[in-house]
Amino acid sequence: MTTELTTGVLTLKPGREKPVLNRHPWVFSGAVHHSDGRYQPGDLVTIVSKDGRFLATAYVNPHSQIRARILSWDANEAINDDFWQRRLHRAHRMRQELDLDQTTAYRLVNAEADGLPGLIVDRYNDYLVMQCLTQGIDRRKKRLAELLAAEWQPAGILERSDASVRAKEGLPEENGLLWGTPPPDPLLIQENGHTFAVDLSGGHKTGFYLDQRVNRAIVCAPRHVAGKEILNVFAYTGGFAVYAAAHGAGPITNIDSSLDVLELAEQNVLRAAAERPSDEYLLGDAFMILRDFRDNGRQFDVVILDPPKFAHSQRDLERAARGYKDLNWLALRLLRPGGLLATFSCSGLVSADLFQKIVFSAAVDAGRDVQILQPLAQAPDHPVLLSFPESAYLKGLLCRVGE
Ligand code: SAH
Repeated sequence: MTTELTTGVLTLKPGREKPVLNRHPWVFSGAVHHSDGRYQPGDLVTIVSKDGRFLATAYVNPHSQIRARILSWDANEAINDDFWQRRLHRAHRMRQELDLDQTTAYRLVNAEADGLPGLIVDRYNDYLVMQCLTQGIDRRKKRLAELLAAEWQPAGILERSDASVRAKEGLPEENGLLWGTPPPDPLLIQENGHTFAVDLSGGHKTGFYLDQRVNRAIVCAPRHVAGKEILNVFAYTGGFAVYAAAHGAGPITNIDSSLDVLELAEQNVLRAAAERPSDEYLLGDAFMILRDFRDNGRQFDVVILDPPKFAHSQRDLERAARGYKDLNWLALRLLRPGGLLATFSCSGLVSADLFQKIVFSAAVDAGRDVQILQPLAQAPDHPVLLSFPESAYLKGLLCRVGE
């Protein structure tokens, strides 16, 4: 088993070692005083303080704002197969402690938050889907796939490295089979006992929004949805709608801007409950459809808002906040007295605190009293690392509007 050698040293500016000492896994380019060595993107480097003290071992990307991502804070920890296997095993053990009895699709490796910067691995039945987000992971992906195969014994491992963040690392999009046999298409997975068809090679992210598993069960619990009229905005393949239909919901109106996903949503809902004559699947822009509903006086008992990421950079933040506010304002106007709003943001740049303020300001403008019944967050197979608050990206509020 060969141990990888470091090919460079990054010396930090005085005072910039604090986040590293606090175990934040990123070293920004602005924190680097100077670098020595001739390293290639993805190589291992040592991070040292201005006075030459060892701080961490990281992999480097000279072309990225995030100059290095830390693998270990222990000077004696070698980076070799054994290291990667230990990290994968640790991630595996944590999932074994979660409530996943009736669930065959969930996140196995959540990148930085599992001590494996840049690597996402999701499990779908007997198949694993890898997203390699950085040069450091991309270079090692074949070997990592072999180690993953040894840890989990899957039937096949797919790569879905088509996330736009790869461009920031200077990497092209790459998809394909990395190991074993290709999965069937579509693949039928179980989530909390509900069945979903998933398109692993063409679906969003790695195929399914696994981060909403716990929230689907909370929001679409029978006591919230049975006999109720539901508006499921940003439906994708029917995540929330399937739970609602299975729990006896009245008519469900689903909105999405993509036709393929709505077709899959309908199939998924009909698998959960055969007779659904009053459900609607509306293709179009959610903002326009909601305005139309408002103008026509349509009302619902439950509105679910699960939009895509609006804020991709600090520059987008103000525009994103306006988008969230508009959306929530419209939703609040469509709710019957005593109705429920489940509202989400998956923009990491919008903190839970800011999101709550946005919903508050929408409620003020809509002239409605709103009670928060429960704050919501990403499922625990997408853990948040306390030393890395950036790993908390999904936040939501389950609210009840006044009568
Ligand atoms: N709630 C879903 C996940 C939603 S992901 C689940 O539980 O699985 C966000 C969805 O919003 C995607 O399916 C995307 O196609 C859709 N979308 C993006 N922009 C939209 C818009 N302007 N109007 C309607 N749908 C949109």
